[in-house]
Amino acid sequence: MKHFWENLEVMEVNKICQFCGNRFVAKKTTTKCCSDDCAKKFYKKRKRDEKIQASDKDLEVQIKGYDIEEIQKKDYLSIKEVMLLLNISRTSIYRMLKDGRLSKLQGFKSIRIRKVDLDVLFRQKVENNEEKQYNLPYFCDDNYYTINEVLDVFNVSSGSFYYLCKKHNVPKIPKGKNVYVPKNLVNIIFNNE
Ligand SMILES: [Zn+2]
Repeated sequence: MKHFWENLEVMEVNKICQFCGNRFVAKKTTTKCCSDDCAKKFYKKRKRDEKIQASDKDLEVQIKGYDIEEIQKKDYLSIKEVMLLLNISRTSIYRMLKDGRLSKLQGFKSIRIRKVDLDVLFRQKVENNEEKQYNLPYFCDDNYYTINEVLDVFNVSSGSFYYLCKKHNVPKIPKGKNVYVPKNLVNIIFNNE
């Protein structure tokens, strides 16, 4: 017994011509136009549209001064290219180079960063964000420090505590005049640092 789809090749299909819009009956499911004439014109139109799209893109590149697709293809990126690709500031990149989250390649005149390193960085970021969604302890004085308490108890500057919070994704909970951080998390961080 033959299945119906084995006859599809010779089946007659009702279609709409992609060039003139007329209804027609096609012998193949892949036929796009009602006639050879329309098919030729449709092909020409498509080529023309492609050219227009390409020149629109050229114009965009001219206006913006860069082509993000070209940057995406590269294996080694300049600071400027990383800025454009990740939409982050020069300062953030230098900070990441300084604290070791990013490393620069040796042997180039100006700074070059490997794209794979950016990928790794982003995977970490995603993982960190997932970790971040751990359950916060019940809100009471026993479970939370205020920022000022942390600075007192652990004898740190607000700058370095700010840095630690960022590094370890410490959730900060503003309530009233104070900002609170979970005690258990902060204790662990200071025990390890
Ligand atoms: Zn047609």
